[in-house]
Amino acid sequence: MKQVDILVIGGGIAGVSAAARFAQRASTVLLERESALGYHSSGRSATFYHFGIGDDAVRGLTAASRFFFANPPGEEAGSPLWQEKSALFFATSETMDQLEALETEMRRFSDNISRVGPAEMQAIVPVMKVGDGGAVAGLVDTGGRKLDADLLLQKNMRLLRAAGGEVMFNACVTGIVREGDRWIVDTPDQRYAARTVVNAAGAWADELAVMAGVRPLGLTPLRRTIIGFDPPQGLDVSGWPFLKTVFDDGFYMLPDAGLLLASPMDVTPSPPCDVQPDDYEMALAAWRVEEATTLSVQRIAARWAGLRTFVADKVPTAGFAPDAPGFFWLAGQGGYGLQTSPAMALAAEALLFGLPWPELLSEHGVEPHQIRPERLFG
Ligand SMILES: Cc1cc2nc3c(=O)[nH]c(=O)nc-3n(C[C@H](O)[C@H](O)[C@H](O)COP(=O)(O)OP(=O)(O)OC[C@H]3O[C@@H](n4cnc5c(N)ncnc54)[C@H](O)[C@@H]3O)c2cc1C
Repeated sequence: MKQVDILVIGGGIAGVSAAARFAQRASTVLLERESALGYHSSGRSATFYHFGIGDDAVRGLTAASRFFFANPPGEEAGSPLWQEKSALFFATSETMDQLEALETEMRRFSDNISRVGPAEMQAIVPVMKVGDGGAVAGLVDTGGRKLDADLLLQKNMRLLRAAGGEVMFNACVTGIVREGDRWIVDTPDQRYAARTVVNAAGAWADELAVMAGVRPLGLTPLRRTIIGFDPPQGLDVSGWPFLKTVFDDGFYMLPDAGLLLASPMDVTPSPPCDVQPDDYEMALAAWRVEEATTLSVQRIAARWAGLRTFVADKVPTAGFAPDAPGFFWLAGQGGYGLQTSPAMALAAEALLFGLPWPELLSEHGVEPHQIRPERLFG
């Protein structure tokens, strides 16, 4: 049996970002069921950073994450983990009230927001249909950024290892029981005894809690689909922004590695699994792109789906389970787990080690009660 201070279960962005911080203060081992980091949600995202999503707590966590993406610590300190890429949110005449509400919310967190009309939108994305029946107004956020999920995961793994932490792959947790002041955790090759277990198992986090006899949070995994298609020949789309409707039954689209990626922003409940794209959602993505632009989706060159896992209030959760000593939640990252990961890791470090609440989080309006699990149990 291997003795360790902290066992982090789940090698997605949540688990590895937090483990990299924990390892600086205590012996830390990260257990990942798959043979690589980020096989599930963290490797399937659109990897975008913006303020057009979530509530104030999520936007605060997003703003507080800037320090890490812009100036990461470690050997290649100073070389950012993101690239500039504006966001353009647009409304039709029926959804102008949603654009106005979004503008008010975003302005609380970003100074880079400007309102644009039909001609400006067409100058930015020439294929947009504007005017009658099309886009009538938009919001440009020049503070949007394109993240690199693989770079982020690898960066955090290097930080974890540099601090003496370990990562174990093919290490599916099959049993967790409390014995005395330790958690005994079983994987196929090794048994561990840990003072603290961190549940960062993404869509599986509730299942893991039930395995440990801990009250689940009520997590809901929702499938989201992305397709990739070729832009029209001869058209350079690399400078196009992240384009998103302000209304929910719309789509988003962004250029990536020579393709245009699009999602119908589906929110279909799914059990935790290696989720696959659905034909209907792929067709819907293509149809919504064609409705709103003059693009024609001739061939779907790439496709995938992933799970976005939410608690009831849609704010990510970090903190000790109120009903189980030494069982720490780090779950429910929803549709913003990459862009909030540095701030969530910072929050988790403070809550797990009983440190003063980081000023950086307070400065952006994030306080412990907004993310601790107690809020979900009434
Ligand atoms: C299509 C799509 C688009 C998205 N776009 C964005 C975006 O633009 N920006 C953004 O910030 N976020 C985005 N997200 C959300 C983001 O991807 C997630 O919030 C984030 O990846 C969640 O990270 P995680 O570490 O909690 O989960 P995961 O990455 O799923 O990691 C959990 C890990 O736990 C492991 N695990 C589970 N059970 C066990 C066990 N018993 N033993 C050992 N290991 C176990 C799993 O194998 C998995 O690797 C998007 C998501 C999707 C699906």
